[in-house]
Amino acid sequence: MEYAKAFLSKHISSLIHKDGIKKQFLATISEFKHTGLDDPLSEKEFTKTEGLIHRYPDRVVLTVTNRCFAYCRFCFRKNNWANFEGFNLQESINYISKHKEIREVLISGGDPFFLTDKRLDEILNAIKSIQHIRFIRIGTRILTANPKRVRNDTIAMLKKYRTIWIAAHINHPDEITDEFRFAARMFIDAGIAIVSQTVLLKNINDNYNTLKNLFCELTAIGIKPYYLFGCDFAKGNEHFRVSIEKALSIMESLRGNISGLCMPNFSFDLPNGGGKIVLEPNRTIEKKGNRYLFKNFEGGEYEYIDV
Ligand code: SF4
Repeated sequence: MEYAKAFLSKHISSLIHKDGIKKQFLATISEFKHTGLDDPLSEKEFTKTEGLIHRYPDRVVLTVTNRCFAYCRFCFRKNNWANFEGFNLQESINYISKHKEIREVLISGGDPFFLTDKRLDEILNAIKSIQHIRFIRIGTRILTANPKRVRNDTIAMLKKYRTIWIAAHINHPDEITDEFRFAARMFIDAGIAIVSQTVLLKNINDNYNTLKNLFCELTAIGIKPYYLFGCDFAKGNEHFRVSIEKALSIMESLRGNISGLCMPNFSFDLPNGGGKIVLEPNRTIEKKGNRYLFKNFEGGEYEYIDV
């Protein structure tokens, strides 16, 4: 397989010889198959002010940059790499202030930690000044792509804005390094909880063992596996996509063998702005009135009489 050069952080460069990492960040000829969509989640349709996306009733996404520490070849916002039009903080704050049903802001990008702590502080301060915002999520690759960017000053700044959740993007156990563990511990020790989001990627992590190791190790570190995402149908992503059938069969093996604490939700986005759906392997064999026949985690059949 031929790989092309790409912009990589020093941290990713030092790991790029590992197969599970190389395939995520180095471009291949397969990307030039131009199937797929520029905007697979139809985010443009739900953009309310520059950079602010309001798709679900109680939460918004604020995209604050198009820059990342390294560029995932399967990124669903890869169209933004070249075409990001910036964001307007004041207009976004005005919009959120008027919409009292919004209780969560997800700060995303690009990677929000590509901004300086000072700029992030300004953004967080503006958001937290809105009374009905109860918590903030920051979607980031910082732990996997640039863990040394997590500094004491960064943590002290974030701690002012309880409650913040870090949504850490990680796809393979090879990405869990000593630096990853150290940086994760800095967040956790400061009371900033971390959840993970993983993209299911063909020939990278689409097997039981890789995902079992990833999710169990994250849980041991103190990171809750939250999402296993189907790879979005963005342009040039076809070679990364895994069928729903295979995804559910991996989920079934995981569900049967690892603690519920280690289990993420399997989810993917519907095209044309349909939003996220969460799928579980089907365990209902039959339902007659209040009598159910279920398949348990070992494949055994058990009857259950409902109320
Ligand atoms: S870190 Fe996130 S925004 Fe950046 S390239 Fe990867 S998936 Fe896209």
